[in-house]
Amino acid sequence: MNIVEIIAKKRNNKQLTKPEIESVIKEYTENKIPDYQMSALLMAILLNGASDKETTYLTDAMMNSGKVLDFKDITVVDKHSTGGVGDKTSFILAPIAHACGVKVPMIAGRGLGHTGGTVDKIESIKGFNTSLNLKQFKEGVMNHGMVLIGQTKDIAPADKKIYALRDVTGTVESIPLITASIMSKKLAEGASGIVMDIKFGSGAFMKTKADAQKLAKSIQSTALRSNKNIITVMSDMNQPLGLTIGNSLEVIECIEVLKGKGPKDITDLSIHLAAGMIVLAGLAKNISEATKMAKKSIKNGEALKSFRSLLKYQGASDKYVDNYKNFPTAKETCVINANNSGYIKTINGLKLGLLCTDLGGGRKQKTDKLDHGVGFTLHKKIGDKVTKNSPLITIHFNKNQKSIVEKIKKEILVNVYSYSKTKPTEAKLIYKTDIKWSK
Ligand code: URA
Repeated sequence: MNIVEIIAKKRNNKQLTKPEIESVIKEYTENKIPDYQMSALLMAILLNGASDKETTYLTDAMMNSGKVLDFKDITVVDKHSTGGVGDKTSFILAPIAHACGVKVPMIAGRGLGHTGGTVDKIESIKGFNTSLNLKQFKEGVMNHGMVLIGQTKDIAPADKKIYALRDVTGTVESIPLITASIMSKKLAEGASGIVMDIKFGSGAFMKTKADAQKLAKSIQSTALRSNKNIITVMSDMNQPLGLTIGNSLEVIECIEVLKGKGPKDITDLSIHLAAGMIVLAGLAKNISEATKMAKKSIKNGEALKSFRSLLKYQGASDKYVDNYKNFPTAKETCVINANNSGYIKTINGLKLGLLCTDLGGGRKQKTDKLDHGVGFTLHKKIGDKVTKNSPLITIHFNKNQKSIVEKIKKEILVNVYSYSKTKPTEAKLIYKTDIKWSK
């Protein structure tokens, strides 16, 4: 097949065939198509969309680019998020679900666009091995009951390459590309049930509820077609989740949640998503029964114990749980005070995510090395009252970054927060939950 003809066909808004899509995915995975041609095709898909059939062909071709695991009769349940700012629920819900008896096979991603990645965050913990091979991964799920790895060359390797390319070519925000990216991995990792956190709002890839609903439908039909049970949760991402953005800072916040001391929004959402996993694993009749189990696991310390066991199972020490000084942290902090009085009306999470990348907390190029210590701590969220000159946000940065920090300070004051005289009505964090059983 001629890749230039395929690009031109999609550019002209024509539908690609199964053999065309299969050949592109195969050849790109085998390094026979260069990044610049794949970027052009991805951009054409982003601009012109893809039909349900094309999305299915793409998902299957990406899934079949590597191995497809099968846990046979053992029920294993995973969760995935479409990505947001400060979105760190995996480190909370996986230990909760594990403590409640769910087997959790997590294959997570790195940062994408303005959003952080689960694998980048957990690598703040020295020694944590996110590169277990598939045999170790499978054994870990069966014997330990919970494993968290990054994408391997064996599971959906096409997505690994395409994901990294989309991250740096402005081709993330596409319903067919997101569906194929997420579902190729989830179908290949062998989960029998999947909880999907679909985010909408200024800090999400889907800006509106309507687009998030379309993505939910696209993901549901891909899951059902492959006989997977699926729960989609549509959740609000019009402000960062929790109070931290940045790799180490976010993992520390998760440990606080597991200790029962975390912010309410991230605690509530993590419990809800974990409850979905417990239901899909058949360990509770419904979300409300599962929610009680999830809350109990935090209260009685079992979820924190599970997190400690995850660290040890994957080669790290659990001293991080007891002493946060073990994390790589930034050398300097700077508090930005409010330049206005009133109530916080909006917080631009997308901008904060990009500013975190400017500090080195995310990648601008595929090969960039991350600084795990940098980021932000928010002191105010939407609806909070502020007085002029009271603390708004802390920047965590390193010594050689003074000039970047000056630029960031200005950006934050001008473009990140808006204020209102009256208290804005509180948006619902969890907007909609749909459970679909495959049979
Ligand atoms: N998460 C993924 O794994 N892929 C996407 O495209 C977006 C979020």
